[in-house]
Amino acid sequence: MHILVCVKQTPKSDNVKIDPATGCLIRSGSESAINPFDEYALEEAVTLKEQEGGRVSVITMGPPQAQQVLRDSIARGADEVYQLGDRALAGSDTWSTSYALAKGIEKINGLSPVDLIICGKQTNDSDTGHIGPQISAWLNLPNAAFVKKVIRVSKKSIVVERLTEDGSEVLELPFPCVLSVVKEINKPRVRSVKGRLAAKKATIVTWNADDIQADKTMLGIANCPTKVVKSFTPKHENTATIVEGNNGKEKGTKLVALLKENHFI
Ligand SMILES: Cc1cc2nc3c(=O)[nH]c(=O)nc-3n(C[C@H](O)[C@H](O)[C@H](O)COP(=O)(O)OP(=O)(O)OC[C@H]3O[C@@H](n4cnc5c(N)ncnc54)[C@H](O)[C@@H]3O)c2cc1C
Repeated sequence: MHILVCVKQTPKSDNVKIDPATGCLIRSGSESAINPFDEYALEEAVTLKEQEGGRVSVITMGPPQAQQVLRDSIARGADEVYQLGDRALAGSDTWSTSYALAKGIEKINGLSPVDLIICGKQTNDSDTGHIGPQISAWLNLPNAAFVKKVIRVSKKSIVVERLTEDGSEVLELPFPCVLSVVKEINKPRVRSVKGRLAAKKATIVTWNADDIQADKTMLGIANCPTKVVKSFTPKHENTATIVEGNNGKEKGTKLVALLKENHFI
């Protein structure tokens, strides 16, 4: 079984700042790591490899420093790692990012057919949750998002339980397919010493837009269909209304009237 995991390097803190002039994330100066949800995606892939046999490849799209998450992926049990790194990709929106990742996956699939693609549910910086479903759309593959459990794997399909708004549902997807996983799916393991040593020596395959035969008119900030018109940090104003009264009953009556007046009840 060949499992491919999509991993993104994101800022370690949730305190992500945005450049008000360009609408882009300010990444310089902030410590980066593997996106938290991607740790679960990778752990699930490595667990499936251990159960079913096969290997795990990892792909990331990002600048040179994103190679750090690829080495980290090797330390966590991945076998091969690929980086899409090209200035033409800079500033891509999710449509453009998922297109480039899909082209990279197509290339990896040409080298060795991919059975399963696993993404995290979302990132902790842009946080859209678009990429997994969009990759499945570009590659015309079945997709299940918010997967909390892998129930069964056979030669031809995988049975998963996914979260829905009011509970969960069980789906069977034929291979090849795309999953996006939530944190409930597993508990990521600690990196082994052997893994850390392998990470230091690992070869990172780096491709540019031409290598993956991507159409450059679909890449980068100039070609994205979505534009950041304005971005800002919402102001948190702490306001409070103190309900006065001679006793609890009077205060309660006034509070109910106030809530009704403001259409809260
Ligand atoms: C209009 C617009 C303009 C943007 N401009 C910029 C910009 O100028 N500069 C900039 O840095 N960002 C920019 N972004 C953000 C960039 O598009 C996203 O970071 C990227 O598309 C991934 O989306 P996400 O972080 O929401 O991923 P999600 O969809 O939340 O991630 C889900 C999963 O997809 C996978 N994944 C996501 N991204 C990657 C990746 N790069 N490599 C491998 N796997 C991945 C991971 O498994 C992840 O858990 C822009 C976004 C928009 C909408």
